[in-house]
Amino acid sequence: MIQIQTWRDPRQDAAPSGRAGAGSDLIGARISMRNVTKKYGAFVATDRISLDIEPGEFITLLGPSGSGKTTLLNLLAGFQDIDEGEILIDGKPITHVPTHRRGFGMVFQSYALFPNMTVAQNVAFPMRMAGVDWATSDRRVAETLEMMRLSEHARKLPSEMSGGQQQRVAIARAIVMRPRVVLMDEPLSALDRRLRESIQIELRDLHRTIGSTILFVTHDQSEALTMSDRIAVMDQGHIIQMDRPLEIYRHPKSRFVAGFVGESNLIQADVLERRGDLVTLRSPSGHVFHADSRNVPASGTVTVLIRPERMALHETPVPGTAPATVTSALFMGETLRIGAVMEGGETLLIRCPDTAANHLPEPGSRIHVGWGPQDCWVLA
Ligand code: ATP
Repeated sequence: MIQIQTWRDPRQDAAPSGRAGAGSDLIGARISMRNVTKKYGAFVATDRISLDIEPGEFITLLGPSGSGKTTLLNLLAGFQDIDEGEILIDGKPITHVPTHRRGFGMVFQSYALFPNMTVAQNVAFPMRMAGVDWATSDRRVAETLEMMRLSEHARKLPSEMSGGQQQRVAIARAIVMRPRVVLMDEPLSALDRRLRESIQIELRDLHRTIGSTILFVTHDQSEALTMSDRIAVMDQGHIIQMDRPLEIYRHPKSRFVAGFVGESNLIQADVLERRGDLVTLRSPSGHVFHADSRNVPASGTVTVLIRPERMALHETPVPGTAPATVTSALFMGETLRIGAVMEGGETLLIRCPDTAANHLPEPGSRIHVGWGPQDCWVLA
């Protein structure tokens, strides 16, 4: 399939709506899904998914391979038919609107640029297809190339550009019509880490400028955390949690989300006492510690999440810490990554910044690990 964007009605473009410029006056569309189900034979790829995306939000679908992210994006794009449920744009059903009438901008992992067209011609292509007059088209292309820092490459062929530059051309082509919705399916996954990180920041800035609603698919959790207004974490055709990045990271609603987004220590602990906002817990090795009492039942066993960077490491015993034996120690540049095991068998992962005060311990050596109530999140 040739993955080319579709565009909104050119008459809208000509209308004096104030949306023609490259300014921040563009407003994204509201996207709603109601019980959206897609089956491949007996296999349910998306299972009664409902969500609401506010105009201008940057939403990331994050999940493991096969969780249904691309399927959901394709249903929204109109590349595939929905079996059950409904998708609405600004409250209007689009279930029977063909892809080319939906007016969405699209970017894919493969840049899908026309190799025989220059950068400017590639970016202008949607405008040509929509019959936009030359003057408007030229102005828009120039503005968009400028926005994507591609002006000096306008006359080059895609083959004369790096991967990162080609993807910026693909993004420019997707937004040249100033679509109200932009769909992006793993657009950065073919790029190396450094380039990916710099385009992530560019994309965030671009989003603020154009104001489109963006639905972005990735399986890279750090990309999702960096870029999104909200993240929808998917697993097996369901949205497991949809929240702001900070909420997803600090207050995941399940072990799956805790484990998929970021690294985690998950410790089973017995509830000893609840008093006000705090609960006293005991780990299998007998380490007694406190946590926020939200989500915590009056008794029984709970799972406590402590992020590796929230664990404090000491070389000598400090009150409130627990002894542990180092199993691995890695220098990773800005952080030290230390694996350890407590006396009751609890395995720990600790990340600490590479400062002059922090030494990389030897495997087999004894350390003391501590955390405070504010560092724990009890999974519901
Ligand atoms: P990835 O990160 O690997 O791209 P994803 O989360 O985007 O994964 P989808 O591509 O949406 O996942 O696929 C969801 C499930 O549906 C997978 O199990 C996949 O094998 C299945 N699937 C997708 N397309 C088809 C198809 N055309 N026919 C049959 N099964 C399909």
